[in-house]
Amino acid sequence: MGRIRVLPDQVANKIAAGEVVERPASVIKELLENSLDAGGQSFRIEIESGGRRLVRIADDGCGMLRDDAMLAFERHATSKLRDVKDLLSIATLGFRGEALPSIASVSRFLLETRAAEEATGTRVEVAGGKMLRCDEVALAPGTTITVRDLFFNVPARKKFLRSDQTELAHIASLVTHYSLAHPDKTFRLTNENNELLHVTPVATLRERVFQVFGTVALEELVELGTCEKQLFLPPPSVAPSEAIAEFRREPDEASTKLFRLSGFVSRPQVQKANRNSIFIFVNGRLIRDRLLLHAISSAYHNLIPHASFPFALLFLDSGYEEVDVNVHPSKTEVRFRHQSFVHDFVRDAIRQRLIESRPAPAFAASPVPQPAARMPYSEFSQMMENEAAETGVEIPSAMPPAEAEPPAEDGDGGEFDATAPEFHLRPARAPEPRFDFGDASIPVASEPGPTSVRLRVPDSHGSFPESATEPVSSLSALSDLRPLGQIHDSFIIAAGRDGLWIIDQHVAHERILFERVLKQRASGNVEVQRLLMPLVVQLTPQQQIEYARIADELAAMGFETEPFGNRTIAVQAAPAAISPTDLEKVLFEVLEIAEGELRRVSLDDIRRAIAASIACRAAIKVNMRLDQSKMEWLLRSLAATDCPMSCPHGRPIALQYSMREILKAFHRI
Ligand code: ADP
Ligand code: MG
Repeated sequence: MGRIRVLPDQVANKIAAGEVVERPASVIKELLENSLDAGGQSFRIEIESGGRRLVRIADDGCGMLRDDAMLAFERHATSKLRDVKDLLSIATLGFRGEALPSIASVSRFLLETRAAEEATGTRVEVAGGKMLRCDEVALAPGTTITVRDLFFNVPARKKFLRSDQTELAHIASLVTHYSLAHPDKTFRLTNENNELLHVTPVATLRERVFQVFGTVALEELVELGTCEKQLFLPPPSVAPSEAIAEFRREPDEASTKLFRLSGFVSRPQVQKANRNSIFIFVNGRLIRDRLLLHAISSAYHNLIPHASFPFALLFLDSGYEEVDVNVHPSKTEVRFRHQSFVHDFVRDAIRQRLIESRPAPAFAASPVPQPAARMPYSEFSQMMENEAAETGVEIPSAMPPAEAEPPAEDGDGGEFDATAPEFHLRPARAPEPRFDFGDASIPVASEPGPTSVRLRVPDSHGSFPESATEPVSSLSALSDLRPLGQIHDSFIIAAGRDGLWIIDQHVAHERILFERVLKQRASGNVEVQRLLMPLVVQLTPQQQIEYARIADELAAMGFETEPFGNRTIAVQAAPAAISPTDLEKVLFEVLEIAEGELRRVSLDDIRRAIAASIACRAAIKVNMRLDQSKMEWLLRSLAATDCPMSCPHGRPIALQYSMREILKAFHRI
């Protein structure tokens, strides 16, 4: 007798459950996706004990026919896929036919469903994968699924669950983000009778963002609008081999593919310590994807500090055949057919909008997001972190205060002497993170004391106010500003029609120079100075490798260098803006950037890094007195830049204290 046996279905389902059902939030994800696939318009989700005691989701979708209701618990039973060809263009969220049998194998499962075309409904009870009963009952059309005692029969799994708070936070964030992906539908999430989210149908994503996060959050976001780009594919020239003949592209098949991107990204002053606030939907599916995360980071390159991340809510849509969704059992990963096209499209679309919006950072007001919006969707972030640990990519996990200063860089404009301040102008309260997905501290209803008071959630934020659509003041207003003077010879104070401004002179000048250097580089017109004596620089082996890689770019930026013996180079000429004493430092800085990010840095990134480094060295420093005409020149030149809101290292350049805030502070409005 052989040693190999085919596993019984019950065991196979439990194995599948290991991949599909990680925690209560994954149950909700599968069930919510089924409800969306069923065409539901309204979803009611109830939770008890962070989902471990109870998860119930009710929809008003198409429901299941009686026979289907029983069949749905069989492994690989699905109504969404017929043959292998369908796998190439999956339009539904589900397709594996694994979720219901997997979840039912590790819980006490109750399915109540009725299809509109049948007069009565069906009630199926399953526990630990065993069908207990199946009854005909009177039900309204739609489906309600109740999952009790998750992992009751897999104690090992149960141990991995975190506190109720954490599990609830994952659920809340998940539901919040599905609600953002479907503004036309109703979502209601309650935890032990406390409403965490309740949103009713609205016409636009903007209104949904407002319902969920409140007005203040909207002000911190830039709407992408709808960005589109076509990919042109030449007709296939080589006949596909027989083996893949059934998947081949017909010669007359359209050879253009349309990609569409919409959503919101944060203004550069919103800076997150990790990627927890980035949500990407590809063809309606919430996914995590390194390629897209990298595209987003590249879009913010030189706009926010190196180790910080934006908030992003992105919807990328393309033909279904452009995305392979059959990559991972929990369907949270995808593979793009044309990766670099997608990457560059997303990066350029975001960067373009950020540049166009040129917004000014303002002093903070308090946000009023719904409770669910404050919670992390860390099923993804957790996985990202795990992955990061494996691949050695650093993703900071702790959430430092939003206002934390980025570490001061060498040569960032000199030491700022903060002793003996002449006067203070500070926001009344420190800016708070508005999209605080890093904080899992959601008050739980069973907690005694005043926390339950905090749980009252308004139905929504009321009607959508016109003011929420008003654009925030743009930094192009800088050209109208009247400089009044400096504080500490470091910050320019200026008055404008729309309030009071404070401009950091060093970073402002840095931005001006950065863009000038890049423009000169683009037109092949860099200003170069020849050195009286060549500067001889000794390189480490690693630096030598990076030097060889970027030598051409260095030359194009004005560094005339040549090898000078073993691991030594001689610099004959350099960009005019850098003083010879800084030259070596700049070179090492650039080589370090090229090396630090390894091969992932594109030449475009290197170019920007070199420009940033030159600009930083050449810019006027803090603690430097400027006369009126210099200040005027600085503001005018800043207003003329593409991105006057942040320096090439991503720090803010100007703060605005708006007229409205001034009036409010003086109790005049
Ligand atoms: P999949 O979603 O991959 O098809 P599932 O195990 O999640 O697999 O669901 C099995 C089948 O049960 C689905 O194909 C669908 O026909 C049916 N189903 C599940 N949930 C619902 C629902 N809420 N409304 C209607 N049909 C549902
Ligand atoms: Mg499913």
